[in-house]
Amino acid sequence: MQTYNFNRDIPEEEGYDIIVAGGGPGGYAAAISAARVGARVLLVESQGCLGGMGTGGLVLEWGSYGRYTMKMVGGFAAELRDLMEERGFAFQPKKEPDPITHVVSIDPEGLKLVLDELMAKEKVEVRFFTQVIDVDREHDVFHVNGVVINNVEGLRYIKAKAFIDGTGDAIVAKLCNAPCFEPEDPMPPTMMAMVNGIDWAPMELEDCGLIVNQRPVIDKAIEDGFFTQPDRHVPGIFQSFDHLGNMNAGHVFNMSSLNCRSLSDGMVTGRQQVQEYLRFYQTYFKEFANIRLISTANLMGVRDSRRIKGEYWLTVEDYLAQKHFPDQIAINANRIDLHVRNTSEEEYKRFSSAFFDTEPFQDGEYYGIPYGTLVPKDSLNLWVAGRSLSCDTQSHAAQRSQIYCMLYGQAAGTAAAQVVATGQTANNLNTKTLIESLRAQNCILPQTKLSEEMTRKPAEQA
Ligand SMILES: Cc1cc2nc3c(=O)[nH]c(=O)nc-3n(C[C@H](O)[C@H](O)[C@H](O)COP(=O)(O)OP(=O)(O)OC[C@H]3O[C@@H](n4cnc5c(N)ncnc54)[C@H](O)[C@@H]3O)c2cc1C
Repeated sequence: MQTYNFNRDIPEEEGYDIIVAGGGPGGYAAAISAARVGARVLLVESQGCLGGMGTGGLVLEWGSYGRYTMKMVGGFAAELRDLMEERGFAFQPKKEPDPITHVVSIDPEGLKLVLDELMAKEKVEVRFFTQVIDVDREHDVFHVNGVVINNVEGLRYIKAKAFIDGTGDAIVAKLCNAPCFEPEDPMPPTMMAMVNGIDWAPMELEDCGLIVNQRPVIDKAIEDGFFTQPDRHVPGIFQSFDHLGNMNAGHVFNMSSLNCRSLSDGMVTGRQQVQEYLRFYQTYFKEFANIRLISTANLMGVRDSRRIKGEYWLTVEDYLAQKHFPDQIAINANRIDLHVRNTSEEEYKRFSSAFFDTEPFQDGEYYGIPYGTLVPKDSLNLWVAGRSLSCDTQSHAAQRSQIYCMLYGQAAGTAAAQVVATGQTANNLNTKTLIESLRAQNCILPQTKLSEEMTRKPAEQA
């Protein structure tokens, strides 16, 4: 490819301790957590609202607080979910909800509002319609001095002491030349949608708000040749408030969110798929005969893309061995939800046996997610927060939910504030202090032994 040398003077700003790029669950939790422990924070978001997939992506199902009888999610994630319920912005499909395992469907407009309020309360400065497009990093050590942003005012250089990448795609880490992993065959994305006109009352529903026994109907429609793409893996329409439903149907195969042409074509295909699934539900289910499309998502529903290769590379072997770590910043017992990569029967069997038929955890069992999964290798002052954490593809499929991305964000934000306050570095942080600080913020971290040193196991040693 030919190159063009782009060189110009742009305005410079400073005065922030921490800059967070991306206002999804990882980024917003990081910004609020850092501000709460005293840091001056700027959050830049390329959309016009916060929430990431939970608003612009119309991914409205929020997972539970834990498995069986064990609560695993505390801290900011539990606080926000509780607040959404208190404010009437979280719908519970289960009639008698279990305090630990019940899931909710959130109101995306409610989430936008609550996050705006929280940012104002914690004095986080937010700039919407603003993208981080470049970084200024030292050559010999992995220290970031500042970032270049772009918005309606043009380009601007902003300095800070620490940086958090909550872009989902590890965009800032990549701009820093941090070692990253880009899956050759990532999990396919889905164009999410909101639909209206559903009479939920007579329907028999699963606890998560999906209609029971839809699988034989999908198989019948495939047999009838109804679909352009005979994909047996259809999560379905989740019950939402009143007569609303959140449609998670269709996969945009062979799309890369890291290639703009592929992503643009994917948006077009995704919107066509939504229309086809709408017709499917109208045709094959009398309960959905009158549904209408309210909206497709503004953001493509990307499940998986670039992740960092950090100080710790978490693997499915760690997951299956139920490894615990002195510096674990979250604990988890989610199942592996690795969507089909194509429409073959083998792929559907592979998915359903891992997701529906395998249960690696009994009551009280879990594995830990260590601090080093958030730290790009050798980074002094950059962390990732959200789905771009350092891990292999299989364990990622258990770790990527929004509630968990908030836990990673809280840990990254707290660690960044600790670095700003103490002069420590991201890759040489006192992790005993970090864990104590997260516990003081109500995070559930049951490890008995703490360590001042982070646990390290880079990808090449995994
Ligand atoms: C189809 C689908 C279904 C899912 N189902 C569920 C589910 O049922 N329950 C659940 O909990 N999770 C679910 N997930 C997973 C979850 O939604 C994501 O893993 C999670 O939202 C990732 O959070 P994040 O903060 O890393 O990224 P995102 O939510 O993607 O947020 C990233 C933010 O960064 C912004 N951004 C990107 N680049 C820049 C830049 N250069 N500068 C500034 N801002 C930038 C984006 O606009 C976005 O707002 C699903 C995901 C998908 C795609």
